[in-house]
Amino acid sequence: MPTQAAKDRVLNFTEVALGYTEEDALLESARCLTCKKEECREGCPVDIDIPGFIKKIKARDYLGAVQKIKETSSLPAICGRVCPQESQCEQFCVRGKKGEAVSIGRLERFVSDYEREQGAVNTPEIAHPNGIKVAIVGTGPGGLTCAGELARLGYSVTMYEALHVAGGVLMYGIPEFRLPKDIVQADIDNVRKLGVDIQTNVIIGRTMMVDELFAMDYKAIFIGTGAGLPNFMGIPGENLNGVYSANEFLTRVNLMKGYLFPEYLTPVRIGKRVAILGAGNVAMDSARCAKRLGAEEVYIVYRRSEKEMPARAEEVDHAHEEGIHFRLLTQPIEIKGDENNWVKELICAQCELGEPDASGRRSPINIPGSEFSLPMDTVVVAIGQSPNPLIQTTTKGLATGKNGTIVADPDGRTTRPAIFAGGDIVTGAATVILAMGAGRKAAAAMDKYLQQAQVK
Ligand code: FAD
Repeated sequence: MPTQAAKDRVLNFTEVALGYTEEDALLESARCLTCKKEECREGCPVDIDIPGFIKKIKARDYLGAVQKIKETSSLPAICGRVCPQESQCEQFCVRGKKGEAVSIGRLERFVSDYEREQGAVNTPEIAHPNGIKVAIVGTGPGGLTCAGELARLGYSVTMYEALHVAGGVLMYGIPEFRLPKDIVQADIDNVRKLGVDIQTNVIIGRTMMVDELFAMDYKAIFIGTGAGLPNFMGIPGENLNGVYSANEFLTRVNLMKGYLFPEYLTPVRIGKRVAILGAGNVAMDSARCAKRLGAEEVYIVYRRSEKEMPARAEEVDHAHEEGIHFRLLTQPIEIKGDENNWVKELICAQCELGEPDASGRRSPINIPGSEFSLPMDTVVVAIGQSPNPLIQTTTKGLATGKNGTIVADPDGRTTRPAIFAGGDIVTGAATVILAMGAGRKAAAAMDKYLQQAQVK
């Protein structure tokens, strides 16, 4: 996939990966062996007919290809960009056993971009309105997918979103240079075209309670409120000025357009030296944003080695190319401030790896006496997010699981009739495609529930 040169792209927020040309797509699709046993498809959480859509690309029927994908996935332009294909469909590609797997995600992106650029996006057929009201809480990929499916079935769908903009992490978390916001907006607009009403600036559990929604005659509710509650390390100094949670940092930069200051009035004080604590996708996004905001030295500080890093390999490679420094086997133990309580230094210990822990990864052990200090202006804590507890704590009868997730069965049924849930709020922080898959399954279960309730 052609990309912007690293030296240029660190100076802007426009998309890094430039996408396939038609010629690239035809060459890549020709590598697909159209295997009888469709192992790639088994690796896809939403069961896209991968050999089927690639066959259409080979025949230059790009719009047919995107329609094939849309049989089971409503957000292909997004998934083609951010899905971790290397650990899903592409991991099972037969080509990958002796060389490089077919680049399924890049082909998915090519056809969905083609469809949008040709202005050929069709609104799917909508069933006759059935007059039944349903509410969706949260407008991330889980909620959007669930809303789209229910609208197509003829339901009257209203979405409630706490922020002033719909899209969830796709809008407020993943940076523009990885996922352009006009692409996300186009998908949100498509959901609106199905007749879905999106109400922003409404916090369910504060502005309105779940039970008030039932009183407003919503017959079923889907909760897709995600995992937006930042985790902290619990080390001294985390409340100093200049310490951000990755969530706040990325929201300021992406949603509030901090990178366009002063055009947008969201200043983000970044300083010269920035430490990002953690090594997942969120950490890579934070590091690469910090670099683009003008930081001279950006460090990923991670207590394990590169092998254990949870971020996608492509994101790590891009971060390396952009000059991000990796301080591995390094455990932050304290953040120290100056006389005005602004971050001044990060105290760390060197680690070695011991036995594997519950996650299966070798656990880091601090080496006694190895402490050292790194001068720092800004620290971004990117060690994970937990589900927002607001709805669970204000709604009776919803069982909760580990870390405050909402307990739901594989079809999204919670412990309260008529309340369904899916995406990160059920699984904990996961992926876009899993949230979409959960939204789709829950829509089918809600339809079944509502039709049975009608019959009675
Ligand atoms: P979310 O996308 O979190 O959306 C939930 C929505 O609910 C939000 O808009 C929130 O404001 C709203 N909400 C919350 N509480 C309330 C309430 N009480 N009332 C009303 N609204 C509420 N996944 C990938 O597959 N690939 C990637 O490359 C990738 N990169 C990521 C980078 C970052 C920085 C982050 C944070 C995550 C990334 N993920 C990635 C994970 C992925 O984005 C999530 O798994 C996915 O967005 C979860 O979707 P969701 O619909 O469950 O929730």
